[in-house]
Amino acid sequence: MTDHDLKSLASSIQAVSSPFRNYLNDLYEKYRSLDEGKVADYIPELALANPEWFGICVVTSNGQLFEVGNCDRLFTIQSISKAFIYGLALEDWGREYVNSKVSVEPTGEAFNSIVLDEKTNRPYNPMVNAGAIATTDLIKGNGSTERLKRVLDLFRRYTGRDLEINVPVFLSEKATGHRNRAIAYLMLNFGMVTDRIEETLDLYFQQCSIMVNSHDLAVMAATLANGGVNPITGERALDEHYVQDVISVMLTCGMYDYSGEWTYKVGMPAKSGVGGGITAVVPGKLGIGTFSPLLDVKGNSVRGIEICKDLAKDFGLHLFNVAKPERDLMEWLERGESVDDW
Ligand code: GLN
Repeated sequence: MTDHDLKSLASSIQAVSSPFRNYLNDLYEKYRSLDEGKVADYIPELALANPEWFGICVVTSNGQLFEVGNCDRLFTIQSISKAFIYGLALEDWGREYVNSKVSVEPTGEAFNSIVLDEKTNRPYNPMVNAGAIATTDLIKGNGSTERLKRVLDLFRRYTGRDLEINVPVFLSEKATGHRNRAIAYLMLNFGMVTDRIEETLDLYFQQCSIMVNSHDLAVMAATLANGGVNPITGERALDEHYVQDVISVMLTCGMYDYSGEWTYKVGMPAKSGVGGGITAVVPGKLGIGTFSPLLDVKGNSVRGIEICKDLAKDFGLHLFNVAKPERDLMEWLERGESVDDW
């Protein structure tokens, strides 16, 4: 039996043993033929992504795991890193100081827009490139090696495993990232970042080039859903006092200039990246990780959006949903009822 056969056998055993896995399998089948959007191609390495790659993973805040598709296929985390780095900056400096360097207002503009708040000169929020570069600048550490080590350790705590950087992606980002360089120098001009620009940009490009899979993204989201403690390893990844800050900006700014519509239709704090990943948090309940590299014009994964929309609708997971959901996921997970009983 090949590895592939073993895997499909394992997932079919999972499928018969869990109605929620059946549900996810159906969702996977529903959207696997959706081929709208295109893979990112601003650097050659990302253009190599196979449009068929597709993974959905859900991890509950008490550590139950459900997955379907290519959940161990690695891709670069890209902008998803921004949410987690923001949390580390808050731990390093506290809320007041971080707020003095990065605001929390949605821009309604593309993630790489060159725009700062005219009155305060702050970048608008930590989820767009300007704000993320300012946040990365705040990461403490003695020199580039120690700062990178802290960043990698942060993601180790969130995912429960050691992660690696995709060096060709990092080098390409660094070689072509003139727009990010321009943003960084504009912020230096206004005293919003320190003058170690190249070091900070390297760290920013490195954090974007960390390799994760959809399983990792679900565990990271579940860690936030679980108050900052990784539900699989039990290790704390973020001070519980800052979880609210991180997931608030994810809700208002995490899906680029689609954030308003996302909040309206899905209502989950989430962050997407141009590698094709989405991480979405249902506070107190679960984390979702999706991977499909086909992106819409705003840079969000087309299939990932649809998956989250369906999960939100079918289980009443929208943050502001007050109607009794047709399917109460948590109750069902606890009781282990069959899908036919819903
Ligand atoms: N590395 C990309 C950039 O800085 C991140 C893009 C993204 O995921 N939106 O432009």
